Amino acid sequence: MTPKILVSACLLGQPVRYNGRAMTLEHEQLDAWSARGMIVPLCPEVVAGFATPRRPAEIEPGFDGQDVLEGRGRILDDAGADVTETFLKGARIALETAQRENCRYALLTDGSPSCGSKSIHAGRHDGTRRAGQGVVAACLRGAGIAVFAQHEIARLAREIGG
Ligand code: SF4
Repeated sequence: MTPKILVSACLLGQPVRYNGRAMTLEHEQLDAWSARGMIVPLCPEVVAGFATPRRPAEIEPGFDGQDVLEGRGRILDDAGADVTETFLKGARIALETAQRENCRYALLTDGSPSCGSKSIHAGRHDGTRRAGQGVVAACLRGAGIAVFAQHEIARLAREIGG
């Protein structure tokens, strides 16, 4: 069976980020996968009900996406509002989508409190980052889906075999 990849919609040019912009990943491999019907686009935050643009949100310092899934950490926007539940809803929809579409892989935008897989923002809304993963990456990994950041696309291609 052709492998399928859940891909952050903002990497595919969709203007769904908190600031109303995309984060387009220009890479011929993406075009090749798309032509073969291997790509499943999703923005977990938009499908969970967030508006675009929206206030930026970060996982509290000292916690990561796994902690949020397990009820230990929260996600707060830059006005201090607790938006954890909506982020968790996005993670649940992402996992349901990946499983329904038989995605064994995900290619996600690093740094996001949802999609980050190598790093997330530090939680102080000051532009700094730390090592860690967001709630979507943690949720997908927990279900056995291999998650890659956008800068790991070549490694994902090798894993899939082209
Ligand atoms: Fe992109 Fe993921 Fe943020 Fe949506 S939730 S804008 S797909 S990084």
